[in-house]
Formats: sequence, C-alpha cells, structure tokens
Amino acid sequence: MNRHFDLIAIGGGGSGGLAVAERAAQLGRRVAVVEAAEMGGTCVNAGCVPKKIMWYAAQLAHAVDDAPGFGIPASRGTTDWLTLVGARERYVADIRRYWNGYVGESGITRIDGRARFTDAHTLAVDGERCTADHIVIATGGRPLVPPVPGAELGITSDDFFALREQPRRVAVIGGGYIGVELAGMLRALGSEVALVALEDRVLERFDPMISEVLGEQMRRQGIALHLSWPVAALERDGGGIRLRSREGATLGGFDAVIWAAGRRANTEGLDLEAAGIRTAPDGSIPVDAWQQTGVKGVYAIGDVTGRVPLTPAAIAAGRRLAERLFGGRPRARVDYDNVPSVVFAHPPVGTVGLTESEARDRFDRVTVYSTRFTPMRHALSAHPTETAMKLVCAGEDERVVGIHLVGESVDEMLQGFAVALKMGATKADLDATLPIHPVSAEELVTLKIPDPEPEAWREVG
Ligand SMILES: Cc1cc2nc3c(=O)[nH]c(=O)nc-3n(C[C@H](O)[C@H](O)[C@H](O)COP(=O)(O)OP(=O)(O)OC[C@H]3O[C@@H](n4cnc5c(N)ncnc54)[C@H](O)[C@@H]3O)c2cc1C
Repeated sequence: MNRHFDLIAIGGGGSGGLAVAERAAQLGRRVAVVEAAEMGGTCVNAGCVPKKIMWYAAQLAHAVDDAPGFGIPASRGTTDWLTLVGARERYVADIRRYWNGYVGESGITRIDGRARFTDAHTLAVDGERCTADHIVIATGGRPLVPPVPGAELGITSDDFFALREQPRRVAVIGGGYIGVELAGMLRALGSEVALVALEDRVLERFDPMISEVLGEQMRRQGIALHLSWPVAALERDGGGIRLRSREGATLGGFDAVIWAAGRRANTEGLDLEAAGIRTAPDGSIPVDAWQQTGVKGVYAIGDVTGRVPLTPAAIAAGRRLAERLFGGRPRARVDYDNVPSVVFAHPPVGTVGLTESEARDRFDRVTVYSTRFTPMRHALSAHPTETAMKLVCAGEDERVVGIHLVGESVDEMLQGFAVALKMGATKADLDATLPIHPVSAEELVTLKIPDPEPEAWREVG
C-alpha cells in the first residue's frame, strides 16, 4: 500500500520530529511521523527529563547534608535507588502516554518502524511504502563509544537510565556536560566517583572560569578528577573494571564505567544515498540556515544536524520549518546565535553568548566584570558551595555579549538575562535595573569594577 502525505517526519517521536509534525498538522496538512522506538525521543526517555529528576534527587541529598547547619536535624542513609528510579520511570511513562494520545488526537498518522529512503520523496518502513512532498529527517543521535579494547565493558548514558541498582564505584569517561552531570548526581547520591577526561579541564567548551570553579567544587565533593587522561582500554579487574591510559597508567576497582564521550548522529540505515543526501565526516547531515539539505524537499532538524544539540533548538527548528513550508512565513528560521544553556551540575552552570576569549577575538574593546562569593544559602552549610559570575561586554557602549554563571540557582536565573542579552542590553541597562535583595542574581546588576581580582568570600543572598 502506498500512502501519500504533505510531510513525513522520520524520528517523529522525538523533540524535533514531533514539533514539525504538530505545527504542520495544526496548519491543516496531511502529516505522518515514523518512529522506531518510544514516543518522546531522547529528551523524554534518556535525556533531559530523567536526568533532571536525578538532579533533583541529588540536590535534595545535598540539602539534607546542609540541614543540620540551619538547626534542622536530618541525616542521610543509603539512597533507595529503586524507589527513585521507579518514580522517575512512572513520570516518564506519563509524558509518553500524553504524547501517544496527542499524536492520535491531532490527526497525525503514526507509522511504527524504522524508515529508509528509496528516493528523495519515498520511504520504506518495514515493507510499507510511503511518499511525501516534504520529508524531515529528525533521527537525533546516540552515545558514541570509542573503539578501544574492552569498550563493551562500559555502559552509556542510555544504559545508565536503565540501571536497577546504584553502582558503588563508578568511572565516568568524558568531561563534557553529560559526564559532569552524571558524575555529580552519582556522587551526591552516595557513589564513589572518578571522572576521567581527555581534556585538561571539565566543560572545555565553556568559559575557563566555569571549568575552574566547577572543577574545584567537584573535587571538594569528593569526585576524583583525572584530567588529560586518555583512556586506551577497559579491562576486567577481578570482579570489577579497570581503565588503562595511553601511557599505561591504570585506575581500577569500578563496578560501572559510563561512556560520556560524545554523541553521533543517527544516519546509518537511512539509505541517504538513495535520496542523494551526503553526510559530513562525523555522520551528521549538513543543512543551510533553512534546515534544507542538499536535496530539494528533504530537510534535517535537531541533533542529526550536529548543530546546537539541545531540545529547544530541535523544537524551534521543527516549528519554524513547518511555518515556512505551510504557514505563509517564508522567512521563518531559527537564530542559532546566543542560545542559552544550562549544565545540571552541582552547582549548576548557565551560559549564553561569547566566552571571554571568543569576545576578545571578535571585538577590539572588551570589558569583563566578574565576582565570586558564597551565597547565603550556603553560609551556614557544612559544605559551602561558591557562586561565580562573569559578564563579558563589547564596544564603547559595553553591550553584553556573554554571561557565564556557576552556582546555586543559576539554572533558573539565566533565562531572563538571556532575553536581555538577545535584546542587546548594555552594562548601563543592567546598572539601571534595581536589584532584588537578597538574591544571588542581584550581583549581575551591581557589578562595578571591570576585571576585578576574584573578590574575597563575601556573603550575599
Ligand atoms: C543524558 C542527556 C541529557 C540531556 N539533557 C538535556 C537538557 O537538559 N536540556 C536540553 O535541552 N537537551 C538535553 N539533551 C539533548 C536532547 O535530548 C536532544 O538535543 C534532543 O532530544 C534532540 O531532539 P531530536 O528531535 O533531534 O532527536 P531525538 O529526541 O533523539 O529523537 C530522534 C528520534 O528518532 C528516532 N529514530 C532514529 N532513527 C530512526 C529511523 N531510521 N526511523 C524512525 N525513527 C528513527 C529515535 O527512535 C528517536 O525517537 C540531553 C541528552 C542526553 C543524552
């Protein structure tokens, strides 16, 4: 049987695929989603959502540790991993159920199975043939496992979310945001954790201030950081697992090793060559500013493009594409500049815009304001956590071009400041805004002296 649609989204259960399908259906088009796995994609099933639940659990664990300092008698026992994971999975299942129902109700045709191209307008899905005027590839990515001997002894972030028992001694390989997040939550929940990374600092792509402050806090929490440590092999070590470096150094006794060494676009098995689509050397699908591949009528959005691999970017790309194709908005597209992002570390990290060195490369005149302090939330705690903030400004008018934050509550603080940055706010605009007191965010509108030495431990809200 051949079915024809205005638009088909491959990977239509994920963030980007669902978004383009939803908006196209709202605009009255005949739409299908092809999905090989569960509705919700990476974000719902093995990404943002279950990760954030684990982060909340870890934050609560830290709060219990801090409670006695405030006169609240509290102490922790062993984390009840099964209760946590069970509750988390019920929450995730509810979201999946919602999307399953929604797709049905919104008139989108759901085709279960794995899609492959037979030509630029035709897909084969488990023997069924379907055609469309517009095909959107939204197949996301998957964890990358480097081809080192014994790599299979490690697990990935996907497997982490399937663990039914808390690992006692864990090595997390990778100093990017997923590695840092997994290491932080496992440590807070009671595991012994080593983070092993090729780079000489965690979160290498972020402003060095973030890496420095977060690295210090991770060490203080008891996470062993092994930086500039290239993993060459995983080996059996009695009942456990041992890592061997390129230089022959070893780290052993782990009962779980988690690969967080990057992700790769899901393009294998799509038979892209049948549609005439070429991939980049890293497997991603190159697209122009309009999400257009090199082939007319075929588009790619989200992680599969290798561009800003975050859920809101995939969703925005999907919605704008549908509006451009069917909504009479021929100029609709995503602006990938100044995308704010948060790392759910302990403490969290928030960043938007240029790092200090990126700004110095781009502008003649750059002014930097920074501060470092102990927030009031941690003033009485036995394990004080610092906050650090950096504002990067450019030009005579000191336009804010970068905001870098690490510390308590910066995850919730960043969004509003990102709006200001996107609107072209200057340092004078921030100064003209009266602070809210006592909160940590007030520091961002009261930074006074450019390039100060990190201020001595001050206490603010
Ligand atoms: C551990 C982790 C934590 C994360 N945390 C955050 C966070 O806090 N905030 C944030 O913004 N982002 C986060 N992300 C990233 C976020 O999950 C992704 O950017 C987002 O899910 C990308 O959406 P997508 O639509 O491109 O792909 P996906 O959501 O991955 O969807 C792709 C879909 O395609 C399907 N598929 C693949 N191949 C085929 C095929 N041939 N036929 C049919 N279907 C196919 C898959 O089954 C999947 O459902 C996290 C990711 C991970 C791994």
